[in-house]
Amino acid sequence: MPLSPDQIKDALRTVQDPDLHKDLVTLNMVKETRSEGTDVFITIELTTPACPMKDKIKGGIELAINAKASEHGEKLGAINIEFTADVRPLNEKMQDKQSPLPQVKHVIAVGAGKGGVGKSTVAVTLATGLARFGAKVGLLDGDIYGPSLPTMLGLESLQGQQTQGNMLLPFEVHGIKTMTIGKLVDPEKALIWRGPMAHGAFKQLATQTEWGSLDYLIVDLPPGTGDVPLTLTQLLPLSGAVIVCTPQKVAQDDARRAVRMFQQLGVNILGVVENMSYFVGDDGKEYNIFGRGGAEHMASGMNLPFLGSLPIHMKLRENSDAGTPLANWNVSDDISEKLDGLCKNLASQISIATLSGQYVQPTLSVT
Ligand code: ADP
Repeated sequence: MPLSPDQIKDALRTVQDPDLHKDLVTLNMVKETRSEGTDVFITIELTTPACPMKDKIKGGIELAINAKASEHGEKLGAINIEFTADVRPLNEKMQDKQSPLPQVKHVIAVGAGKGGVGKSTVAVTLATGLARFGAKVGLLDGDIYGPSLPTMLGLESLQGQQTQGNMLLPFEVHGIKTMTIGKLVDPEKALIWRGPMAHGAFKQLATQTEWGSLDYLIVDLPPGTGDVPLTLTQLLPLSGAVIVCTPQKVAQDDARRAVRMFQQLGVNILGVVENMSYFVGDDGKEYNIFGRGGAEHMASGMNLPFLGSLPIHMKLRENSDAGTPLANWNVSDDISEKLDGLCKNLASQISIATLSGQYVQPTLSVT
C-alpha cells in the first residue's frame, strides 16, 4: 500500500523551516500531498522564490518521508518535491486599505548614511537578483537629487517617457520595472530641488507609476537623513529598510544615524550590507583597504541582521557604468554567490518579519 496523503502530511509535521523554527504544516507551506503507486508527490509553497533554505527543506522532507515509509513497512519509489512561491504581503488588510499601491506586496527602502558607498549599486543588485529568482520586482529611483539609475540600468539610450492616461509607464529592463526622475527632467535640474518640491516629485514618481502587481518594490533613497525617507514612510507601508555601509569608521557613524532615523520612524531594519568590503588583487590576494568587517561589526553591535558583503571589483564598476547589471553574475563564482546571498538573506528577513508578525506600522515621532 502506498503512503496516504495524511501519512505524508504527518511526516511533514516533523520537518522544520530552518529559519522560522516551526514545522511546514503549521506554517501552511504544504499545498499538496499524494501518492501514485509507490511514488510520492509533494508541493511546498515558499514565501519567496529566493528562499535560501530550499535545499535544507528538501533534505528534511526526504528524510521524513523515508522514515515514515519504514515505520509503516511501505515500499517507497521516487519522492517528487515541487516548490512554488507565493510572496505574501506583510499585512494584507493594511495593503488594501491604506497603501496607494495595493498591488505591491513589499516596499523596501535602501538607504545609506553617506553618498558613494554603493547604495544604488546594492539597490540594483537586490532588484535584479530577486527578479532572477523569479520574483516580480520594481526599482524606484528615489535619489531625486542625483539619480544614478539612468546610467546603471542603461536607460539613457531608451526613448523618453511613455504615459497612459495620467500614469507613467515604467521602463522594463533586466527583468525589472523601473522609474527614475532622471528620464523625466534634466538631471542637472533635479539636483537643485528642495523640501516641498522634492516631496512632491518623489510622491508622484512612487504613486503615479503604473507598477502593476509586484512582489517587491525596491526604493533607492538619497543618502543621509533628509526629506525623502520621511515622505516615503508617510506615503507607503514599508516592509523595512536595508542600510548600505562601507567598513570604515566614518561610514559606520553615518550609517548608524540612518538606522536610528528609520527606527524612529517605526521602520523595521531588514539588515546591513557591507560594500567595498575588500579588494582582490591580480595576485589573488585579498586587501582589506577599508577595514573589512567594520559594517558587520556595526550591525551586530546594533543587533541588526547582516545581509552580506561585496568586494570592490573593477568589473562591478564597469558593468555599472555600462548599464549592464546582470553581467555582475558573470564576474566570478565568488561574486555571484555573494550577490545571490544578499538577495536570499533579504528575502528571508522579509519572510521572517511577515510570518512572525514583527511588523510595526510606521508612526511619525520625529522630535
Ligand atoms: P551611492 O548610491 O551610495 O552614491 P553608487 O552605488 O552610485 O553609490 O556607487 C558609487 C560608485 O562606486 C559607482 O561608480 C559604482 O559603480 C562604484 N561601486 C559601488 N560599489 C562597488 C564595488 N563593490 N566594486 C566596484 N565599484 C563599486
